[in-house]
Amino acid sequence: MIAGARYSLLWLFGALALYLSPGGARAQTPICQSAGVQVSIDFTSGGRHTCRVTGAGEVILDVIPEGSPINGSPWYAFRLDAAERTSLRITLDYGQYEHRYTPKLTRDGASWRAVSPRDVVVAADARRASINLTVDAGMTVIAAQPIETPAAIHAWAGATLAPHAFEQVQYGTSTDGQALIGYSGGEGADLIVAMTRQHPPETTGSVAFRAFVEHIMSDTPKAQAFRARHRILLAPMPNPDGVSRGHWRWNNGGVDLNRDWRSFTQPETQALRDLILGEAENRRTVAFFDFHSTRRNVIYAPPLDADSPTVDFLPLLRERLDEAVDCPLPWTFSHSETGNTAKRWALEALRAPGLTIELDDEATEAQAQRIGRTIADALMDYTLEGARAR
Ligand SMILES: [Zn+2]
Repeated sequence: MIAGARYSLLWLFGALALYLSPGGARAQTPICQSAGVQVSIDFTSGGRHTCRVTGAGEVILDVIPEGSPINGSPWYAFRLDAAERTSLRITLDYGQYEHRYTPKLTRDGASWRAVSPRDVVVAADARRASINLTVDAGMTVIAAQPIETPAAIHAWAGATLAPHAFEQVQYGTSTDGQALIGYSGGEGADLIVAMTRQHPPETTGSVAFRAFVEHIMSDTPKAQAFRARHRILLAPMPNPDGVSRGHWRWNNGGVDLNRDWRSFTQPETQALRDLILGEAENRRTVAFFDFHSTRRNVIYAPPLDADSPTVDFLPLLRERLDEAVDCPLPWTFSHSETGNTAKRWALEALRAPGLTIELDDEATEAQAQRIGRTIADALMDYTLEGARAR
C-alpha cells in the first residue's frame, strides 16, 4: 500500500522544484557560460550536451545520443541561470541527426510552455535549430518535452491510485539500481495491462496514459463497476534509467526496450514480463496498451482476425476514437512473428490484442488527454457490455 498518498500531488511539485530550483539541493555546475548566463545539465533528465560559446556570444549545444546508430528522437534539456534579464541565442547542434521537438520552457519546474515558433529557426537540413531567447534573472529550463521524472510520475501514481487501494509493487531493479515500480488493483478474472515511457522522450504518450488511468479511477458508476470486475496492472515508468539519464531511446544497457520483448536480455523487460505473467496467470488478458509518441497520431494493432478472444474490442475502439477526435487516427493492423515489441508479445504470450498507441509529439495536453479518456471509456463499455451479454 502507498502511504501518505493524499500529499503526493504536492510532493510531485516539490520533487520537481527540488530537481530544478535555483536554490535546490543540488549545486549546478555550468558546462559553459555566456554574458552572465550559465548553462547546466546536472539534473534528472538533463540532456547529454557539450557546450561552447562563439565570439558573438552564441551558445552552441551539441545534442548527443547515448549511442549510435539510434532512433532519431533527439532529447535535449538544459538549465540557464541568468544574473539579470538577458537576450541570447542558443543553437542546438544535432550532428548527423535532425531537429524534432519544439522547445518547451519552464521557469518554476512545474508549468511549461512551447517557445514561440518565430523564436526557433531550423536549418534547411534540420541538423541545427537556433532559439532566440530573452531570459529573466534566475532559472529557466528548456527541454524537448516537459520533464517528467520517475519521482514525479510515481507521486502522480500514488495520488491517483492509493485511494482505490491499488498496490505499489517493486517488480525489479534497473541497471542503475532504480526501483522498477508498477501498480495493481481491482478484482476479477479479466486483466488489463497498460504501460508507457519505454522510450524516454515520449511524454505525450504518457499524458494520454495518465488520462486513461484517471478515467478508469474516476467515481462514475461505470468506472466503479469496471474496477470491481477487472484486475488492472499499470507500468508508468519501465525505463527509469533512460528517463533519468536524458536518453533518446535506450535503457542504460544500450537496448531499445521495445525491441527486447522476445529475447528479454534486459532487467527492465525481464522483470516487467514476469510481473505481467504473474498477474495473467489464471486470468484472461482482455486488453494490453503500450503508449508511445511519434511524429503523428497512429495506432498499431494486430490483424482483426488475430487469435485473441477479445480482438473484437478493436473495431469498437476505432469507432469511438473516430467520433471523439477531430482528425481520425490512422490504424495499422499487422502482426510480425519476427517482431520484438511488447505488442507482438502480448498477442503471442497472452492472446491479448496488444496495441501500440502513438501520440503526436506535439499533441497538446488536451488532445492527448482526450485520446486517453476515449480509450478508457471504450474499454469500460466493451467489457461491461460483454459481461451483460454473458
Ligand atoms: Zn516509442
